[in-house]
Amino acid sequence: MRKVIRYKCSDCGVLFDSEESYLKHEDRHKRINKANEMLNNGHTLQEIQDTCNIWDSIPEHLKNANKDNCFVIPYWQCCDKPAYQIDYIYMDGTVRVWGCGSWSGYYGNPVSLNSSNLRNIHNKDELFVDKRYIERHF
Ligand SMILES: [Zn+2]
Repeated sequence: MRKVIRYKCSDCGVLFDSEESYLKHEDRHKRINKANEMLNNGHTLQEIQDTCNIWDSIPEHLKNANKDNCFVIPYWQCCDKPAYQIDYIYMDGTVRVWGCGSWSGYYGNPVSLNSSNLRNIHNKDELFVDKRYIERHF
């Protein structure tokens, strides 16, 4: 029997066998935190990428997208209007797309930037919010 040391991320609890691999992970947390701060402040995905280096690449049609742009994801809640916006960037580089469609109010899921769900990009003033559910926003 041999005792081993493992390193645990105090942010998310993931375990690492070496300090180096933990430090890489910690650096990723820092870049993701910064990326989310920039997203909240209205920066585009390309600006976020230039500063934080989160993704391998960004699809051309999303380079100028920011949190205000909205997307039509017809099979979410049978909603064919642009109801969904990018509101969070995860550690793995997927983004949460979130909004109030037409079935049961607010809904969101992690989506890859390469997903066809994000092909259909709309401007802020086109955002659709199902009025029936606004009251329930937490
Ligand atoms: Zn972590």
